[in-house]
Parts: sequence; C-alpha cells; structure tokens
Amino acid sequence: LFTHFIANYTNPTGPDLLGRTEAFFEWQESRRQTGLWPYSRSLDGAPMAECAVRSETGVARQGLNFGSQDYLALSTHPSVVEAAHRAIRDFGVHSAGSGMFGGNTAPSLKLEQALAEHLEMPYVALFATGWGAGFGAIAGLVRPEDHVVLDALSHASLQQGANAATQKVSRVPHLNNRAMRRKLQELRASDAANGILVVTEGLFSMDSDIPRIEELQTICHEFGATLLVDVAHDLGALGPKGTGSLGAQNLLGKVDLVVGSFSKTFSSNGGFVATRSAAVRQFVRVMGGPHIFSNALVPVQAAVALESLRIVRSEEGDMLRARAMENILALRAAFAERGVKCLGEPSNVVPVPLGDPKVARVASKLVFERGVFPNLVEYPAVRIRESRFRMQVMSSHTVAQMKQGAEVVLNAVEEARTMLEAPQPSPL
Ligand code: PMP
Repeated sequence: LFTHFIANYTNPTGPDLLGRTEAFFEWQESRRQTGLWPYSRSLDGAPMAECAVRSETGVARQGLNFGSQDYLALSTHPSVVEAAHRAIRDFGVHSAGSGMFGGNTAPSLKLEQALAEHLEMPYVALFATGWGAGFGAIAGLVRPEDHVVLDALSHASLQQGANAATQKVSRVPHLNNRAMRRKLQELRASDAANGILVVTEGLFSMDSDIPRIEELQTICHEFGATLLVDVAHDLGALGPKGTGSLGAQNLLGKVDLVVGSFSKTFSSNGGFVATRSAAVRQFVRVMGGPHIFSNALVPVQAAVALESLRIVRSEEGDMLRARAMENILALRAAFAERGVKCLGEPSNVVPVPLGDPKVARVASKLVFERGVFPNLVEYPAVRIRESRFRMQVMSSHTVAQMKQGAEVVLNAVEEARTMLEAPQPSPL
C-alpha cells in the first residue's frame, strides 16, 4: 500500500507533463508545514563539527553536524583556505570555458598530475562534478549495442549514465560477485561482438560496504569486460595515504577505470575519470558530454582539491584519518551498546537503520529540535522500507560528541515509535 502511495506521487503518469508534478508538491508542502520534510536545510556558517543549521521553514538550531562530507574537515583547514585565497587572487572566480577550450588553469593541470600520481593511473580528465564524471565516462564509452552491468546499489549518476548509453543494462544483487560472474558468462555466451562495462563503487555510501574489487576485476577480464569503480566516498578518507579501497586492496593502477568526486574529502566540487590510456582519456573528454559541454572547474575549486590532496597524502592526513576512525568506532559502539547494529563496515558514513519511513520522519524532526543533524535517507535514495539516518563522521568531531549524537538519535527513535505505535521492523 505504501509503495503504491509513494509511486503515485513520485512517478505520476498522464499527458500533462508539468501539471502532474502538483500532487508530489502538495504532499511535500504538507510534510514541510508539520516539520516533517527534513530536506533542503541550510547552514548558517562553515560546516564545522558544531554548527548552526536552518530548517526549510527558517528555524535555526545550533548543534552537532553529522551531515558534512568533508570527512577530514579540510573545508576550514588554514592551508586549504589560504590556497583558495591565492587562487582567487591569481585567477579570479570563474573559469573561461569548458576544459576543452580555455577552461584549464595551472591549479587544474597540477590537480590532474597529482591525482594521476595518487591513483597510479597516468591519465586523468577533470569534470565539473563527480556526477558528470561518472555519467560522462559511461555515456561516452558505451554504445547502444554494448552492455552495462551495475551493482544494483550503484549511485544515480552511474545508473543514469548507463540508461543514457544503452538499453542493455542489467543490475546484479549488491556485492554479489558470483551473480556478476553468472551474468557476464551469460552475456558473453550470447554476444561476443560488443563491449561489456561493469560498474561498482569503492565504498557504497548508503550502506557503508565495500566490494572485493580484485576478484571483480579478474571476473571482468575472464569475460572481456571492463571494470569501472567510483571512489567518490573512499578516496582520501580510507586506505593507506588516503588511497581509498583501491589502495587498501593493493589495486592502485590495476583497475580499468576509476571515477571520483572532489565534493567529499577534497572539500571542493568537481570530479575526475582516471585511466591508464591516453586514448581513453581523450575519448571520454570529447565524447562524454559533461566534459566538453560544461564549463570547467573554477580555478579556486581546483586549487582547494589540490591542497586537500596534498594534505590527504601527508602525515597530517594519516593523523586526521586516525582521528576520524576513532570517532567512527566510538559512534558505532555507542549504538551497539543499546542493541542497534549500524549497517556495513566502519567508514565515515555510519548508516543507522530505521526501517519505517514514518518513524524516520518523526525521529528526524525530533533530533533536529534537539540539535543533532544527521541526514535522513529514504526513497528514492534507498528502498522504501529501508529508511536510515546517515551519520557522517569527521576528524574534527570528538568521541564525546559521538556518544551524545547516538544517545539523542536513539531516544528520538524510541519516542517516534511510541508516538506512532509502530511495529518494530528493525532493531530500532
Ligand atoms: N558518485 C558517488 C558514489 C556519489 O556518492 C556522488 C555524490 N553523492 C557522486 C558520484 C556525485 O558527486 P558530485 O557531488 O561531485 O557530483
């Protein structure tokens, strides 16, 4: 019933393409007026561990920030801020055009080079967003006759890139390499003539879990398929020297294609595609729409990502990752002490299962009022009955804040359950 209800709002049908959006808007407005629409909040200042958040109705609260993606808190790091100032002084605040024309500057060229070294992939193409990088790599390389096989939980940019490129898109169950092998075997048996692209992520940000990438790469090569790994969330934050899941699995330079984003640990915006081939880099730049047809990264964004990458690779980076991990483990332990198992494995995203979307909405309202700000993740980002809080942990948090955050969340969820007299579909 609930699925049907949501589908009517989010997938409306009928000939009036614009008018049919009204039902969703009215439903969302009714949630907003009761404080149950926990999206489009804004920050009144920098995204520090403690900050002021303003709700969509304009109410401001000071509290604990669990919604920031710059996991090593580099967005306010003095040398990153100084690099930003310098770039603005030297290059202004705009890029002259697409990366194909005059859009590159010294910071963006240095960023390509530094990233190539970090990933041990000699050729890097920059994109204005991580979204554009994933979408562009797939849409650029895959032709309508080719196949794309995605881990079912791959990010929307990858799913939409696949759908834009070909109708031959399949999804295999999350992290299931055996199912992937079966799918590739089946596709190759019936089509020896066309390409197969396999898509996964270095860290799945809604579930905090990681594939066995080497095994996946071997399976791909067995059937003449190409592997693409999106490292948006793990690069910089995890792995030796911040090399992410690829570095942790000793796979630097060994995977076919790597895409990622500067909008998380690199405290900027923008994305990249990394490859071992000059030809692939050039093809993706020209044929992957978002590189050639979007304005390039602004110099200040490139300079911020470049300085963040320098810190990521330094001893200071090791220290920041260790501090973040101490917080991550403390947060997961605080939930476990009260019988709640966070999803996945320890990473900067700590998913707290809530299940019932109504409980999730009410709990989200309560935690906001009490000054704790995780993001509520629900359909369409995850399946309908799998709502969760995604608590994003930074190196600048403290262990005491982890305990406080877990306490407030757990109490709010219990209260929400009681208020709604909901059955208990998950441990929460
Ligand atoms: N890929 C993944 C796996 C992501 O999680 C995200 C951001 N949520 C993106 C790509 C898009 O990155 P950006 O914000 O730079 O567009």
